[in-house]
Amino acid sequence: MGAECGDYVSRIYELLDGELDDTGRAKLQAHLDECPPCLDEYELDRILKTLVQRSCACEHAPDTLRLQILQRITTVRVTQVHIQEG
Ligand SMILES: [Zn+2]
Repeated sequence: MGAECGDYVSRIYELLDGELDDTGRAKLQAHLDECPPCLDEYELDRILKTLVQRSCACEHAPDTLRLQILQRITTVRVTQVHIQEG
């Protein structure tokens, strides 16, 4: 990841929460297009958010559930890396 990536990664959450304005969204989108690690991060956050919303629509997900989701995502990521390398 580049030096500016941390900044963009923190904005991914804002994007997914619908808190970014058009300018911020376009800037982040442009970065995601040319930065695969950040795009990865975006995909993972998007999946995580969807899973949490689906499993618990009105309350915060309990820590155990969040851990399970994170473990599943880690597995997905490892699998993807293997596919890319293989
Ligand atoms: Zn980046």
